[in-house]
Amino acid sequence: MTKLFKKIPEELNIYILNMRQITRRSNLSVYFVGGFVRDLILGVKNLDLDIVVEGDGIKFANDFAGLFMGKVTEHKNFGTATFVLNEFLKIDFSSARREIYPKPAQLPIVSPGSLRDDLLRRDFTINAMAISLSTSRLIDYFDGVNDLRLKKIRVLHPLSFIDDPTRILRAIRFEQRYGLKIEHKTLMFLKEALDLKMLEKLHPHRLRDDLIIILKENNPDRVLKRIQKLAGFKFIHPALKVPAKTFSLFKSIKKEINWFKAGCFERRSMDYWIIYLMALLDSLDLNCVKKVCEKLGLRKGETKRILAYKQISKKSISDLSSSSLKPSRIFAILEPLSYEVILMLKVKYSNRNLKRHILEFLEIYNGMRVFVSGDDLHGMGLKPGPSYQKIFAQVLNAKLNSKVRTKEEELALIKSLVKKRS
Ligand code: ATP
Repeated sequence: MTKLFKKIPEELNIYILNMRQITRRSNLSVYFVGGFVRDLILGVKNLDLDIVVEGDGIKFANDFAGLFMGKVTEHKNFGTATFVLNEFLKIDFSSARREIYPKPAQLPIVSPGSLRDDLLRRDFTINAMAISLSTSRLIDYFDGVNDLRLKKIRVLHPLSFIDDPTRILRAIRFEQRYGLKIEHKTLMFLKEALDLKMLEKLHPHRLRDDLIIILKENNPDRVLKRIQKLAGFKFIHPALKVPAKTFSLFKSIKKEINWFKAGCFERRSMDYWIIYLMALLDSLDLNCVKKVCEKLGLRKGETKRILAYKQISKKSISDLSSSSLKPSRIFAILEPLSYEVILMLKVKYSNRNLKRHILEFLEIYNGMRVFVSGDDLHGMGLKPGPSYQKIFAQVLNAKLNSKVRTKEEELALIKSLVKKRS
């Protein structure tokens, strides 16, 4: 299986070389596991290394990190540590462990174990393979390679989805990502877990984490379609129905995101997954959406953006859809909104004027500011106070509507405004 080793992305070589040296010196058994091995076999590039140590994984992580300038975060309760070198390289280390589920859908009790125990606790055969660092040998107790060949997703035991219902979503996600099929018996177990309402029993924060991962997939629409078919979305909110037209929205979102990226409009970072979530929750009213955000424990800023979309007034939409609209009005509607909301509007409404106004906003008006400053107003003998904001707003409107262009014109406008007032 040294052939497999040769498929490891070059940028990881230096790290793996060092890990192998530590392994040799310390006489430990160390393995690549999980998604990294799966993707290696599939020939899919994956830089997220997952390492299992038969012994003290945290110590191994620290010995390794000592050679590089990265940061290790330890999770002593789980015997795991994460090494982060930069935004591209993250390595998860763990001590081989055994897991027992005291109650369905609850977190497991963990204790030290062998590599076999560690692989046995995993979700699917395709994710339960390991490669030994010292011998380069592939360890495949559960026939994962064969399942990959047969394009099957298979659980390791019948109660897998009951123990951990996030695996229901994981199975669907991997199925759609790699074009696999959930194997017959596994699908039966999955449906039994759905009948027992296991997704509803999951802690909402765990549900959130897996939901976000799905929405960050390359093709979340496929995963969502399959969830709709197998489970529906009542596990997110009892009133949540996702009609067929929402699935066309998902498709358009991907197109709009690509359009947005190509246009280089982005001035601040954007969470594309939030747009998919807005679409997913589109049929719910504001109150229900608020409840979903609370239940999932979304961050303040995330909730704010999702609710802002639900709160856009009919008047704003009708104004944006009108054939001629003053730039100052375009600005007044769109500037306070996040890019996620703006893109969602472009996805949701087919009106050409609305789309044109959004494009104009992104190309021209977004972030527009006046040249004059508080010092300029002060210099003109104006007393600092709320009147400053009013003046700035008036000048900005004039600038947006092309009534003033230069700083001199702005100053002249302010003079005339002040004159009128006195
Ligand atoms: P991705 O490519 O989406 O990151 P991954 O398989 O690497 O997929 P992770 O969530 O990073 O997924 O998990 C790493 C490994 O940990 C998995 O390959 C699997 O072996 C195991 N694992 C993760 N989640 C579970 C779970 N809920 N139940 C059992 N094993 C799990």
